[in-house]
Amino acid sequence: MELLKSSKKYQLFINGEWKNSISNQFIEVINPATGNIVGQVASGNIVETKEAIDAACDSFFSWSKETSKARADILMRLYFLLLENEEYLASVITNEMGKPIVQARKEVQTAAEHFRWNAEEARRIYGQTIQSSEKQKRLSIIRQPVGPVAAITPWNFPLSMVARKLAPALASGCTIVLKPAEQTPISAIELFKLAEKAGVPNGVINLVIGNPKEIGDVLLEDKRIRKITFTGSTEVGKLLYKNAAKQVKRVSMELGGHAPMIVFEDCDLESTVNQVVKSKFNNTGQTCVSPNRIYVQQSIKDSFINLFKEQVQSLKMGYGIDENIDVGPVVNQSGLDKVKKHVEDAIQKGATLVVGGTVSDKANHKNGYFYEPTVLDHVDEQMLITNQETFGPVAPIFSFETEDEVVKKANNTDYGLAAYIFTENLSRSVRVSEALEYGMVGINDTVLSQVEGSFGGIKESGIGREGGPGCLEEFLETKWITSTIRD
Ligand code: NAD
Repeated sequence: MELLKSSKKYQLFINGEWKNSISNQFIEVINPATGNIVGQVASGNIVETKEAIDAACDSFFSWSKETSKARADILMRLYFLLLENEEYLASVITNEMGKPIVQARKEVQTAAEHFRWNAEEARRIYGQTIQSSEKQKRLSIIRQPVGPVAAITPWNFPLSMVARKLAPALASGCTIVLKPAEQTPISAIELFKLAEKAGVPNGVINLVIGNPKEIGDVLLEDKRIRKITFTGSTEVGKLLYKNAAKQVKRVSMELGGHAPMIVFEDCDLESTVNQVVKSKFNNTGQTCVSPNRIYVQQSIKDSFINLFKEQVQSLKMGYGIDENIDVGPVVNQSGLDKVKKHVEDAIQKGATLVVGGTVSDKANHKNGYFYEPTVLDHVDEQMLITNQETFGPVAPIFSFETEDEVVKKANNTDYGLAAYIFTENLSRSVRVSEALEYGMVGINDTVLSQVEGSFGGIKESGIGREGGPGCLEEFLETKWITSTIRD
């Protein structure tokens, strides 16, 4: 059942008001599983972005002076509201981006947890006093919010990526202008409705949707916006980073990845294969931490592939609103074209097809963007799939002989987001996790997106971290205060 309606219209949220754009234009949001329109969203550009910035700036003083307890209370109310509305929000996610409902529910829970975690952390913004070497001096360091913030988010986790920015910004005392992805704005709109209900004051959070470049340029050119927090591709991230440099704005960048997954011969094979399948086909391979290079030690490669193939063949693909669907569509036609191109290129350069390899006709909706869960063997360094994010349900398998060899291969990329190791050998797990040039490493574990952890990458995968014990650092400035005391 399609829960959203093609005729339903959604508005922008600026200074506490829901409104259409002055152009009165709308963006159609398409369900990638059915090809149906699931809603129309007001498309605002320069004028609305400026209004949103004005609102974020006008409300900054009062919000930043609010007690951290009052801010935490609002975030906790939002946490409970998200959980109360879990089923509806999950259906919105499934309808606008195609993720199976079971995975969409988890996304709602993760989004909620970000509000809870940041509410808890809001109470722990500490300064310092320092003993001076001079008797008359008093020295201290205080932490203050950076100011009004611009946030730009991707489509692949349309709710939790917004939560990962909104929650720490609000907890720190920052105000915010958010531009979500134009493919999936409805999740963000529903989250803003709940934030309003939770008591976020007018102007503190603002939502603009429309032409990414126009909105992005206005946000970056305005001196009053003191920070940009971005999640998306490395390509767009570099552009924003360059433009942010003109005013030395603070930046946080959560960018693309090309995760190596290293399967050593001493792993627990059955549990490894279960985890590799779950992680690779989660969100139809459209995650920044998706294993894009699966390195399997030569001695166990045949047994690994046999077990892997069996499990991949049993995955059920289709419109994810059905409870038993494991793999949904990719997000749109250009996503599908990229997957096709990577598979064709690999096969043409010598990879062998273990399973899949075609646009699917098995899914129950012929207008959806479905590609069969695919496994490729004999993949090598010359292929596109080894060097670019595929962002689709394709598992490329490589083989290796020694630990040193595989670490070198795994590090041979400009990306540095996530890496995984499967081994039962403790010393090896320590050696290899320390040698991998990545911001996150999973050892016999593929679930990296946990609020308690510091999520983020190194090299061209990003700057800064989201979640974890340092979650508010990205939204706080350090101020050093020194004073001279008279006797
Ligand atoms: P994208 O870079 O195309 O778009 C991301 C956002 O940037 C969207 O809101 C888009 O409208 C906006 N945008 C595009 N061009 C812009 C411009 N010129 N100025 C301002 N904004 C602009 O990425 P996507 O396709 O939406 O998402 C997939 C990418 O995101 C992948 O590379 C994935 O690895 C990455 N990602 C990273 C993380 C992480 O935490 N590191 C998490 C999720 C996704």
